[in-house]
Amino acid sequence: MSRQIQEERSETAFADFKPPLTRDQAVVEANRCLYCTDAPCVKACPTHIEIPQFIRKIATGNVKGSARTIFESNIFGMSCARVCPVEVLCVGDCVYNEMGVPPIQIGKLQRYATDMAFAEKWEFFQAGPDTGKKVALIGGGPASLACAHELRRAGHATTIFEKRASLGGLNTTGVAPYKMRADKSVEEVEWILGIGGIEVKTGVEVGKDISFADLEKQYDAVFFGAGLGPDSRMSVPGEDLPGVVGAVDWIEKMKLGKVPMTGVKRVVVVGGGNTAIDAVREAIGLVPAESEVVMVYRGQEDRMSGYAHEWKAAKVEGARALWQAIPVAFEGSGKVERVRCQRLDANKKPIAGFELTIDADLVLVAIGQSKLGAMLASLGGIQIESGKVVTDDRGGTGRKGWFAGGDARNGGKEVVNAAAEGKAAALAIHDFLSGGSRG
Ligand SMILES: Cc1cc2nc3c(=O)[nH]c(=O)nc-3n(C[C@H](O)[C@H](O)[C@H](O)COP(=O)(O)OP(=O)(O)OC[C@H]3O[C@@H](n4cnc5c(N)ncnc54)[C@H](O)[C@@H]3O)c2cc1C
Ligand code: SF4
Repeated sequence: MSRQIQEERSETAFADFKPPLTRDQAVVEANRCLYCTDAPCVKACPTHIEIPQFIRKIATGNVKGSARTIFESNIFGMSCARVCPVEVLCVGDCVYNEMGVPPIQIGKLQRYATDMAFAEKWEFFQAGPDTGKKVALIGGGPASLACAHELRRAGHATTIFEKRASLGGLNTTGVAPYKMRADKSVEEVEWILGIGGIEVKTGVEVGKDISFADLEKQYDAVFFGAGLGPDSRMSVPGEDLPGVVGAVDWIEKMKLGKVPMTGVKRVVVVGGGNTAIDAVREAIGLVPAESEVVMVYRGQEDRMSGYAHEWKAAKVEGARALWQAIPVAFEGSGKVERVRCQRLDANKKPIAGFELTIDADLVLVAIGQSKLGAMLASLGGIQIESGKVVTDDRGGTGRKGWFAGGDARNGGKEVVNAAAEGKAAALAIHDFLSGGSRG
């Protein structure tokens, strides 16, 4: 079993885009907080971290207490401090926005406290007394890890089955390196596993190496946290040409190893969501200065599904876009050289006779990922809707003892949602195993 990642990685070319606060900066910022009662920032956080409480503890010099407050709600507090889109969550809801005053830098303060916890190797949690119950968790991403950690606190035995070599899911293989590199995610995973007793089986694909039915026989409950599947395909001619690749696949290769960029000067990214914007910014960071990175999106700029603040940052870095267009063919001899695009009207309908061609050495297709819920369909009792596993609000499916959370349940949100759903499911599993609730 190898949870480590190699040293030589393309992602190490990127610097940290939100450098940490110094002690003095953190204390000054913490003292600006109004410690609101019924604070909107807390409501905006899917894990409901007691934000005013952890900020007040930083202001009074109790950084260890601050970190404990964060981790009590969200065991992924360290990575969430780096990767959360705080602009549309806690920071976006800070009351200061209403007053025309810069909002509190909640993410940076959270990073200050959680980084210190990691640096000082503070331990906050221990496993509960053994209950004799066993839970299997499918997937080793944030949802399963948060679930397993909470289950260990309650004393249940846990085994994570992960098909890849490393844990952390997309937090390790997907998030942009200027937010967090893969080695930092792996460090967090080791810290979470530090509670002890979380058995990890990497390189094991459930459904292939072990059947769902066997898992059900061997364990008292099962948590499905398998996330999403591979990049969706466009089904247009030339998609199999070398140089046309799925964006999530390319990002994983860039984060865990080296992606070949020699001679790549014109990159086309297809899509307008957050993965597309990440891919644009990552490509810009890896190509020579005079190169072009163009996003091709079927909609208009003010309607794109990616976050506006991320696209604004991409533009500052030199990103260009072709709006209201879709690729209809990838062309080239032996490898991609051009992308033929059809222009669309405001309703995304083709404008007859209006095509154009863009040169490209590399095409990153970021039009979404497939859903994995279908793999559970054969079990019976589990409802699947548009590929997502349908559950109640605590992650319980219609099949006794089966729970789900994270991207597999919500269709693809953020790390903080996966952490929240994993924890909620753990509490529901605990009730189920204690005989207090259905599962
Ligand atoms: C490119 C990209 C960038 C992102 N950037 C951000 C960001 O900046 N901030 C943010 O908050 N969120 C971001 N996200 C979203 C975030 O990473 C996910 O919401 C989160 O990781 C979901 O956690 P999860 O545990 O549900 O699934 P995942 O993280 O996908 O983990 C699922 C795990 O299950 C494993 N698995 C799948 N099938 C099986 C099987 N049959 N057997 C065993 N193992 C299996 C997979 O290998 C994977 O490791 C990003 C996503 C992408 C694609
Ligand atoms: S809303 Fe802003 S000022 Fe109020 S508690 Fe939250 S961070 Fe502090």
